[in-house]
Amino acid sequence: MFLGHFAIGVATKPAAPALPIWALFLAPQALDLVFLPLTAVGVEGSSHGDYGQSEIDAAYSHSIVGALAIAALVFVVARKVWKSDRSAWILSALALSHWVIDLLVHHRDLPILPGNVGGLPLFGFGLWDYPRAIFSIEVMLAVVGVGLYLNWARTQQDTRFRYLGPAVITVLFALMASSDFARLPA
Ligand SMILES: [Zn+2]
Repeated sequence: MFLGHFAIGVATKPAAPALPIWALFLAPQALDLVFLPLTAVGVEGSSHGDYGQSEIDAAYSHSIVGALAIAALVFVVARKVWKSDRSAWILSALALSHWVIDLLVHHRDLPILPGNVGGLPLFGFGLWDYPRAIFSIEVMLAVVGVGLYLNWARTQQDTRFRYLGPAVITVLFALMASSDFARLPA
């Protein structure tokens, strides 16, 4: 689930016109933006399996407490940068949406506490067991997200560049969708 996270961010553009698209695009991936460097230093990691079948160790970035901390950090930074509570709430809610969606698809690998201290139960409803259905939902989210963004872009004054953002996002989504499609289990 990469495409779906990004798509939800892009879909919020009409509701958050003051925020640049790159911020809306990246905010839902804030947890993974922490996961990547932690993976690079070997604290977290994942195996590279078929679509939805990778084993993921993200015990810090994707713990409930970790996700809340990251969302809070996004709030503080966004409030400083855009000087707006509304913008900060939107970006921080997008950051937290990552965890909620992961909860639906992941295979019982999401802990409550960072590092799964205390060995408490792990969460994840495992909807990735239906890879084709989940992949289809991701593609639908991407289409809806780009559609909403495009519809907003249509109303903009700048006639030369107003479709540039939607065009770039469409290309990125198409690349992500085709790489996921190639990884669908036979
Ligand atoms: Zn994630």
